[in-house]
Amino acid sequence: MDIGKDISDYWLSQLRTSGYKLTGPRYCVVEILANTDKALTALEIYKQAHPQYPSLGLVSVYRTLEKLEELGLIQRVHQKEKCHAFIAMPNGHEHILICRYCGRVCFFQGDDLNTMVLGVEEKSGYQIQEHWLQLVGICGQCQRDRSIEYEVR
Ligand SMILES: [Zn+2]
Ligand SMILES: [Zn+2]
Repeated sequence: MDIGKDISDYWLSQLRTSGYKLTGPRYCVVEILANTDKALTALEIYKQAHPQYPSLGLVSVYRTLEKLEELGLIQRVHQKEKCHAFIAMPNGHEHILICRYCGRVCFFQGDDLNTMVLGVEEKSGYQIQEHWLQLVGICGQCQRDRSIEYEVR
């Protein structure tokens, strides 16, 4: 939880620097995202925040997410059945590893892509500016929880 608090403070300073006014409901969205290791959709964030801030609308959640994404504080996560979910990016650019069942996210760094990116630039003539790398799998906890299912297969 202390780590979440730190992220939150970093985020708040970034938001303040950008001139973004954090009202109570927006603050609540930031807090929720900063304190979870699971990717959450706008609706899930809304449902968590709503009891505390009944005045918070889903549109405000979307707008806050847009702003956080613009500042590079969160990243979009693609999910099969759900719409986009979002995860906090506490350390800036990193690659993410996501559990397909529970949505838990881990981060990893690796520069092995650089060679590939340079090769792509050379062949395509594009100037590559950014990339996202998301690996999807089943986390250790879910593997244990679903061990019976695997045995059947
Ligand atoms: Zn990268
Ligand atoms: Zn999992």
